Amino acid sequence: MNNLRTVVVIGGGISGLSTAYALHERASAAGIQIRCTVVDAAPSWGGKIVTHRVGDLVTEAGPDSFLSQKTAAIELCAKLGLTDQLINTNETSKRACVFSQGRLRELPEGLVVISPNQLGPFLRSGLLSWPGLARMALDLAIPVKRSSSDESLASFFRRRMGRQAFERMLEPLMAGIYGGDAEQMSVQATFPRFVELEQQYGSVIRGMMAARKTDSSAASAGPKRTMFVSLKNGLSGLIDALVGRLTEQGVTFRSSTIVDALRVRSHQPGRWKYDIILNDGSALSADSLVLATPAYVSAELVRPLTPIAGGLLDLIPYASTATIAMAYPCAAVAGAAEGFGFVVPRAEGRDLIAATWTSLKWAHRAPADQLLVRCYVGGVGREAILQLDERALVSRVRDELASMCGVTAEPNYVQVNRWMKAMPQYTLGHLERLNQIEAALSRYGGLVLTGTGYRGVGIPDCIRDGAVAADRVVRYLSGERS
Ligand SMILES: Cc1cc2nc3c(=O)[nH]c(=O)nc-3n(C[C@H](O)[C@H](O)[C@H](O)COP(=O)(O)OP(=O)(O)OC[C@H]3O[C@@H](n4cnc5c(N)ncnc54)[C@H](O)[C@@H]3O)c2cc1C
Repeated sequence: MNNLRTVVVIGGGISGLSTAYALHERASAAGIQIRCTVVDAAPSWGGKIVTHRVGDLVTEAGPDSFLSQKTAAIELCAKLGLTDQLINTNETSKRACVFSQGRLRELPEGLVVISPNQLGPFLRSGLLSWPGLARMALDLAIPVKRSSSDESLASFFRRRMGRQAFERMLEPLMAGIYGGDAEQMSVQATFPRFVELEQQYGSVIRGMMAARKTDSSAASAGPKRTMFVSLKNGLSGLIDALVGRLTEQGVTFRSSTIVDALRVRSHQPGRWKYDIILNDGSALSADSLVLATPAYVSAELVRPLTPIAGGLLDLIPYASTATIAMAYPCAAVAGAAEGFGFVVPRAEGRDLIAATWTSLKWAHRAPADQLLVRCYVGGVGREAILQLDERALVSRVRDELASMCGVTAEPNYVQVNRWMKAMPQYTLGHLERLNQIEAALSRYGGLVLTGTGYRGVGIPDCIRDGAVAADRVVRYLSGERS
């Protein structure tokens, strides 16, 4: 009997590629021979990870870095021989700001990821009035919510910290990560750590203080990493290395190939065969399938097998955003840019969500005489701006930069990247929906979902979830039902 098992991974973003990588690792450890094919609709690999190199400028169309605290991405870089390419943010200018009540105000580093291990920044930021600070401190006394029902991010933080702390500090940081509306987002699905802190310590602030002590006593012996890290020549270096390694391992790559449909070819207890119908009319056959596509694409693919899972996947909404990179001669914008950039609270009613002074945040992104900035617009409830043509969009963003930080010069380089339906929204009930989707799909052996739509939106989350998906496939192929 032929023991070679075929696995098709649909979607060649970081989720699909890291799943294929983990599949090879785990299959070889389990003594299973697999033949893996990765299929992607786009002509190039990496999905949202797209680095542009124009002259000496390095710009990221999508993600520009990843969190170092979540170690999956750093570990994958190490396995791919990329450790010496990892770069920290520029320590000499590590300030971030929030645009609040008409001007930029400084936020210390700890707040940039709403990290629950930094308390001082909340108190020192000067963003809150005394009554706002006093209300925030009430978190130490407010009773813990006993019901385990889901709660929106806005409700959780208003309840614990008060409206002012939420609107001025927490909301813009969260909106920057998810492009979302905190009134609709699930705290349990997006920031479960805060819920744990409340439950464990009776207060988010007390929990943050305790976590800080633990984190500093457990400081790792490895190289010191800043909160966010990137790769010297851009994040697409991770994609190139993954594709290179997978090619050496015999993985087949099919780019510019849209998967139109899935069919069950046959099934016996514990053993399924799937057909993957491609847009050129041909089909691939697989013993196991990984769908690493956005939830709304996976919805269409699984609907003929299970309309329930299709319907539930459709309930995961996606927001659209755009990033606009612009370069200026430093001399023309002297004094305008400081620190890493700034975020803008929704309550300010502006077009700009955030801006990063890319060339101040990272070395190797622009020549010394150029300032490179990346601006973000769009997100839930603010997507109308994406309908503007490129000229009008850039003009609106330039007006924002002029009024917020005095940048009026003409950029000598502009690049607009629109990301339509790109940012999944973990809305209220998200975790319960995931359970229901899993239950509806559980009948289909070897069919696994992974990707940014489910259990974390950051690159390390996608890599970790890809490894979990690979484990499930290998367990299934080993004869155990996952
Ligand atoms: C503007 C922006 C900025 C971000 N910034 C950061 C950041 O700084 N740090 C961070 O950690 N994360 C960031 N993220 C999030 C992170 O980039 C994503 O979560 C992650 O890259 C998603 O990877 P994925 O593989 O799950 O999905 P994708 O990258 O979307 O890959 C899915 C793939 O499926 C393919 N596909 C779709 N339909 C089909 C089909 N029918 N057949 C075949 N293939 C199909 C697509 O072509 C695509 O390549 C950002 C996201 C955006 C949009």
